[in-house]
Amino acid sequence: MGKCELKFVFLGGCSFLGRDIMGKLTEVLNDRGRQIVAGSVTGVRNYIKNINWKQVKANCVAEVKGTFHLRNSMAALAVLLLTSVGVYTFSEKVAATEHVYRVYIDGQYYGVIEDKASIESTIQSLGTEMKAEVIFQPVHQHVSVTNEIHVANAIIESTKEYAEVVVVRVDGRDVVTVQDQETAEKLIARLKDQYVNPNEQEQVSLAETVDFIKVQDEVQKVTSFEAAFQLIAQGVIEQKTYVVSRGDSLWDIALKNMMSVEQLHDANPNIANIDAIGEGQEINLVAKEPLISVQTISEVTREITKNYEVEYRDDSSIFEGQEEVVQEGETGKIKQVVKITKKNGIVLKEDILKEEELAAPVKEIIAKGTKKKPTYGFYNGPVTAIGGGSWAYPVGGGYVSSYYGENRGGRPHLAIDIAASTGTAVYASNSGTVSYVGDAGDGYGNCIRISHGNGIVTLYGHLSSMAVSPGQSVGKGQYIGGVGSTGWSTGAHLHYEVRINGAQINPSPYM
Ligand SMILES: [Zn+2]
Repeated sequence: MGKCELKFVFLGGCSFLGRDIMGKLTEVLNDRGRQIVAGSVTGVRNYIKNINWKQVKANCVAEVKGTFHLRNSMAALAVLLLTSVGVYTFSEKVAATEHVYRVYIDGQYYGVIEDKASIESTIQSLGTEMKAEVIFQPVHQHVSVTNEIHVANAIIESTKEYAEVVVVRVDGRDVVTVQDQETAEKLIARLKDQYVNPNEQEQVSLAETVDFIKVQDEVQKVTSFEAAFQLIAQGVIEQKTYVVSRGDSLWDIALKNMMSVEQLHDANPNIANIDAIGEGQEINLVAKEPLISVQTISEVTREITKNYEVEYRDDSSIFEGQEEVVQEGETGKIKQVVKITKKNGIVLKEDILKEEELAAPVKEIIAKGTKKKPTYGFYNGPVTAIGGGSWAYPVGGGYVSSYYGENRGGRPHLAIDIAASTGTAVYASNSGTVSYVGDAGDGYGNCIRISHGNGIVTLYGHLSSMAVSPGQSVGKGQYIGGVGSTGWSTGAHLHYEVRINGAQINPSPYM
């Protein structure tokens, strides 16, 4: 046999194969290179000629996915020769005169080959699967040569074991092969068990037409009960799950698993509120698409509550913006007989067959105020102060920081605040008699009150200093103390109040 050398250089990928597949092919090439080297040019040509390309592609893809059978590797190599951008060179020509061999598989004659090494390699790669006995008988005369790949296929075929098995056919499509009829029936029984509630009378059916077909087929095609069950129940052999860790949001989980939040929802239809998932909870990452669906129809009697109506009535005795409940509402109670149709445990529809009101709901009645709110004080009578009609501004500077009637945490401010720096002079706004000087701990801080007669009193709060004493007569505009922030105050200002017979009125006309 002549010596030749085969070299492959990849310049790019096949158009239909991914990078992994290319890598695999390279591997296959290295493994199998010797076979080709040992073979003849004719042999290589014949490999290529007899290849089922579709099958080869499928096989290469399958190997990358981990289920490749070595018997296909020769064909994979040939793919390289033809479809990849490969460059190969033979350094020497293969000698033309070679031994050829008759091949017998389990005593049966299969044909003549010249590449014995490649067949031996095929046998080796089958490992323990290889059960047939293969004999090579050298032939020295000139005979036409059978294609090696046919012989290799015959050897592979001899490793297969045939038996009666059962194919589960769903809506005319073969989905899985199981050992026997009994196993197939057990599959369906277990599937139904998943969704049937033993406490309810239910009609159970399958949404698809399911047939069990007895066939003679390779024993190797039989799927185990567990795997077959996973397949028909969730459409995939292995369900991927994720255990929620502390602080995981749906968004985090989706991102970590390269999926969308919507896909997460789809994968977990049994979790009513997936946004409220908890630490340690196991959730699905793949949406189940059962190949066979269980439909249940049940009749359920239940009591539900009926919400009450709320009626608003205008009420002129209540201030605007205020409400009063006149009559408390009460929910009613309804008894229903419902036909519930579920598919794989998920409610598809509910038909109400019968309905009976056990208790009528009671309407809630709410009175809504329409009465206008007073803008200030309660005193509307005439005012005549001792000092006459004109009043003095009570501070030597500053600005009004809060008006009368402003909202102060839900209560109106019944005074005027004039913000000014600490120590700014405070004056009596009219002549009168000082009736109080001091801090009563009532929030006003240092406070002076002056009585002006006719029930009119002015009040000066939060003072930093006080220059008058009780009983003292003061004139309009007389200095009585300094602006401060004593008592319940957040900054230096004069809190100026005017009271008529105890009512705090708007001080604006009195300053
Ligand atoms: Zn104030």
